Amino acid sequence: MTKQSRARSGATGAAPADPAAVVRRLTLEQKARLLSGASFWSTAEAPGVPSVYLADGPHGVRRLAPDVGDIEGALPATCFPPAVALGSTFDVGLVTRVGAAVAAEARERGVDVVLGPGVNIKRSPLCGRNFEYVAEDPLLAGEIGAALVTGLQDGGVAASVKHFAANNQETERMRVSADIDERTLREIYLRAFQRVVTRARPATLMTSYNRVNGTHTGEDRRLTTDVLRGEWGFEGLVMSDWGAVHDRLAGIRAGLDLEMPGAGEVRVREIVAAVRSGDLDVADLDRSAARVVALALAVREQRAEGGPSSAEVSLGSGASSASEASLAERGDDPEAWHDAAHHALAREAASRAIVLLKNDGGLLPLAPRTRLAVIGELARTPRYQGSGSSQIVPTRLDDALTAIRDSATDVVFAAGYGLGSGEPGGRRGADGRRAVAGARGEAGRRSPLGAVGRKGVGRPGAAAVGALADEAVAAARDASVVLFFAGLPQSAEAEGRDREHIDLPADQLDLLDRVLAVNPRVVVVLSNGSVVRLSGFADRVPAIVEGWLLGQAGGGAMADVLFGRVNPSGRLAETVPLRLHDTPAWTSFPGTGLRVTYGEGIFVGYRWYDARDMAVQYPFGHGLSYTTFGYSGLAVSTGSTSGVGGAGPGAVGGLAVQVTVTNTGGVAGREVVQCYVSLPGSAVPRAPRALAAFAVVDLAPGESREVELVVDRDDLAYWDVRAGRWHVEGGAYRVEVGASSRDLRVSAEVEVVGDVVTAPLTPESSVGEAMAHPVVGPVVTALLKATGLSDDVMIMTRAMPLERLPYQPGSGVTPRRLRRLLDVANGTGGPLSRAAGRLLTLPPRLRPPRKR
Ligand code: BGC
Repeated sequence: MTKQSRARSGATGAAPADPAAVVRRLTLEQKARLLSGASFWSTAEAPGVPSVYLADGPHGVRRLAPDVGDIEGALPATCFPPAVALGSTFDVGLVTRVGAAVAAEARERGVDVVLGPGVNIKRSPLCGRNFEYVAEDPLLAGEIGAALVTGLQDGGVAASVKHFAANNQETERMRVSADIDERTLREIYLRAFQRVVTRARPATLMTSYNRVNGTHTGEDRRLTTDVLRGEWGFEGLVMSDWGAVHDRLAGIRAGLDLEMPGAGEVRVREIVAAVRSGDLDVADLDRSAARVVALALAVREQRAEGGPSSAEVSLGSGASSASEASLAERGDDPEAWHDAAHHALAREAASRAIVLLKNDGGLLPLAPRTRLAVIGELARTPRYQGSGSSQIVPTRLDDALTAIRDSATDVVFAAGYGLGSGEPGGRRGADGRRAVAGARGEAGRRSPLGAVGRKGVGRPGAAAVGALADEAVAAARDASVVLFFAGLPQSAEAEGRDREHIDLPADQLDLLDRVLAVNPRVVVVLSNGSVVRLSGFADRVPAIVEGWLLGQAGGGAMADVLFGRVNPSGRLAETVPLRLHDTPAWTSFPGTGLRVTYGEGIFVGYRWYDARDMAVQYPFGHGLSYTTFGYSGLAVSTGSTSGVGGAGPGAVGGLAVQVTVTNTGGVAGREVVQCYVSLPGSAVPRAPRALAAFAVVDLAPGESREVELVVDRDDLAYWDVRAGRWHVEGGAYRVEVGASSRDLRVSAEVEVVGDVVTAPLTPESSVGEAMAHPVVGPVVTALLKATGLSDDVMIMTRAMPLERLPYQPGSGVTPRRLRRLLDVANGTGGPLSRAAGRLLTLPPRLRPPRKR
């Protein structure tokens, strides 16, 4: 069976038996029971319907016992880089391979559905869960999300795309309403979901905790049924986030099929009573029950098939299917679960996620014989994932210090600071947000390796702080190059709470100042799940490496990049601002009175900074290499490309973009070619540029390659709020290609033929709209001209709704004439020529004076 056909008939596509027929044989109680989990992680069984096992991820498998809702105690699994890092790879193929490896491990652990990926947009750097999300840009989030879903589902495991929708903060996440105008919702916050659904056909989707425009997303029929199924063609199952259900009956009516986790018999009784009293239509119950059955039957078939072995779907070896015996045998021994090939893949992905932000004077890569001082506890005790439900118990954990020692001959280490608190040393910086009072304890996740929360890592007392710092300064003084590891402690970024600022801990910044005073040759290596402010030191250090959270093999990956075994190619999936005040949601995040207004509209991330022409620390898409690249020969044509979204697959008229990229430096390297599009002079406010396509290309020194990018026509469209549809405007689009959103090397213009949309003319249409109408426009214009109104009055008249014309003295328009005009415009008024002729018969008062 090919991967594709497996995806279609297995856990990820159409079910093999008729779920509706199965549902017809069930009692009312049995159907009601199917609609919520049987345990924390499994769905209910029914005659002929197996239970389905779900587990968190998606950067690994978090297989817990059925009734364990805690974060701790999962079976070990490879901890791949979290979404924040996968987004920075810009590498769809690599992310697909990661998805496939996660699928193989899920199957080995008896998991049928992996809860992810999260494709929510990073609206503010303060969102505590940004490490679980891909990007501030919907195209990138959608492409990376789709790649992960494809990898998972081709590997025989269902994905659950989350959190649908607009889950962009943790503050009051269960009650807050994200108040978003329709265009912004469509173009930014739904867009990545739309891309994943239409491209990768996820088997399930998870609603969010929050409300959107006042309605709980799990009760929002428009979102979960009309848009998701009606417009995007989603055929899978919609489940709630854990404990997100507000009104279960409203949810069933709206299209929320499965409530998770198990809500117990109370819920069954509630649903049964509602059907019996007529409050809930049994057809709604049957429809959702059939979707649960469809997933369960598909999963059963997938299990029976055995599915792809670990070796087939990834680089790994090992068992291909889970059996309880094998789970019990391996227990929670990390070594028993360790898969060397998956660890190597985790290292490859991590190395591709690292972003070289700055490298003055070619300080990097390091020669193995360089006399190095490695400073910072984070070099020894890695932060490799965020806190909360996505936490994986790793099978192994590499630290950078060991990997650096393995790569160099002369290394001294000094911890410099401790990691015991989210706010070590208190708050430093001028972002104006209240400092967090008191120290919070280390998240305390149990690690099978004992590497997190071990003794000596916690926050030391004041005297010890001084001694640690003194020791680090002394080490730095004698070094040729200082590798200064800085970053956020585990508790600083976590599910369930937002950040209050974006500064690095003050004790790390103080130590950096002292180190710089004795040795300017400092490489700052960062560990953080969302951007931190760099403006306090960025111009004082020669090199900065953004290491995000890199998963269990991140330590080795960091050494690979620092010593040039991997030439860095990671790119920023989120802008690094100069300060928090500059960020788009600064004035509204996280809202008041349980409502948060997305007042910045579509201007999120780089769209905001570009529209306001603001300076940033490092722009979206930025990332350096140890080599250099040249761009030439841009050619853009309106090709025949397939698309997603409104127009659906098969839409034509996108852009075919070709550009030649040359490695102009001395070492092999990988470039992330980015294509941005805009329409100067658009009828609607638009970002100065928006990412429309990207590709990675590996080039040997001196090598040139022609890179082909496809911009789908749908990605040129804006959401027309009045028409309630996507609209591609005609006009001269500007296509810019380069190495980042602010390093665009070549550009071209291309004429795009717009959608022919003749909006119906209504009494509320303006005179100006009537004048522009393709059918009656000339007639209306002639009428208006004949009135001899001055230019100023004409301007005011153009803005007037047509319905008001009959009541304007001297307009010459009667209610009857107006009706006739609308009939003609909308094709409902008989032959055009007769009607138009009558319209042109102006009343005598308006006739121009006869020439003598
Ligand atoms: C999170 C989800 C997660 C679920 C199950 C929720 O709190 O928001 O992302 O999948 O828990 O752990």
